[in-house]
Amino acid sequence: VTVALPPIAYTSRPAAVRERIDGRTLLVSTPSNIRWLTGFSGSLGWVVIGPDRLALITDGRYGERAAADLATAGVDAELIVGPSRRELRDLVVTAAGTDNPVSAEAGHLSHAAWSDFASDLTLEPDPGTITKLRRVKDEGEVARIARAAEIADTALAQVAPTLGDGPTETDVRDELDQRMRRLGADGLSYEPIVASGPELAARPHHQTGRRTIAEGDTVIIDVGALVDGYHSDMTRTFVVGEPDEQQTEVYALVRSAQAAGLAAVAPGLRARDLDSACRNVFEDAGYGDWFIHGTGHGVGLDIHEDPFAARVSDDELVVGDVVTVEPGLYRGGFGGIRIEDLVTVTTAGCRLLTHLPKDSPCLPSPRTT
Ligand code: ZN
Ligand code: ZN
Repeated sequence: VTVALPPIAYTSRPAAVRERIDGRTLLVSTPSNIRWLTGFSGSLGWVVIGPDRLALITDGRYGERAAADLATAGVDAELIVGPSRRELRDLVVTAAGTDNPVSAEAGHLSHAAWSDFASDLTLEPDPGTITKLRRVKDEGEVARIARAAEIADTALAQVAPTLGDGPTETDVRDELDQRMRRLGADGLSYEPIVASGPELAARPHHQTGRRTIAEGDTVIIDVGALVDGYHSDMTRTFVVGEPDEQQTEVYALVRSAQAAGLAAVAPGLRARDLDSACRNVFEDAGYGDWFIHGTGHGVGLDIHEDPFAARVSDDELVVGDVVTVEPGLYRGGFGGIRIEDLVTVTTAGCRLLTHLPKDSPCLPSPRTT
């Protein structure tokens, strides 16, 4: 029995956007921004929002879905359904009007589409209005991300004990995939990463392959589920059999770096300082150059979204951000160890959304027959 999730507060969003765009008209093309604003879950559409206009423009394939999504979200938008992709362009131009400059999402719109619209509209780049608003998740959004995280937690808890049975990486990936769907996921947040052994686990974004997982391997498993369009993201690392001295040492180091990162998370923390909270632990231990990626990122309707916790980030954490804390150490010949949790930033610091144990990398020794 699944508990009903609290609703997402769509109805307040058009006003929040209008307040930011201050009398201008915004042309929204990024699918996750359209979904955030209207609830529309199709992959092709446009939204025009201005002081007294909110229009969702899509093509015939999505007409019914768009009407249903708007009704579910309770958003009062004009739905304009065009017969084909080409005609949509003209409908967007008409909806946007030609009186004022129109802001458009320069980070998403292709150069070709921008140039095409620019022959009828005076376009200017929008400074990420909706992307910024989307950072703060409401109760309904956090509940969906938490549900997705719980599904991934459960699936990995079920699959991890089989790592000692000699599966291939792809066997483990496929098992996670099927279990998450059976547990109620709408899909995968991303293809699960299963990276094993002294060479492949040393690649943070290894393409899961046919290697057979063997005793003595470090095995990094990075997995997330999708619920109602919302993603989750988590990593655990296992050692098949009894960890050796170096595996034990590196695991403990990653564990304490991750704890330092989680302890630092609070509203007002600069994302770059979250990164250095983890990085400093590695550097102090002489492992600085084994840490070859940023510490974390926002998660929501996109798997990677603002804020980004990297050395150069200017973002500051705010209450309602959902972010990962995912330090890791990697070395060819050794393998890799990463621990990633997903948290929501609260006034008190943060609340964990991922709950799978992480204190120890051990798995039972492989079966001997
Ligand atoms: Zn991940
Ligand atoms: Zn991540």
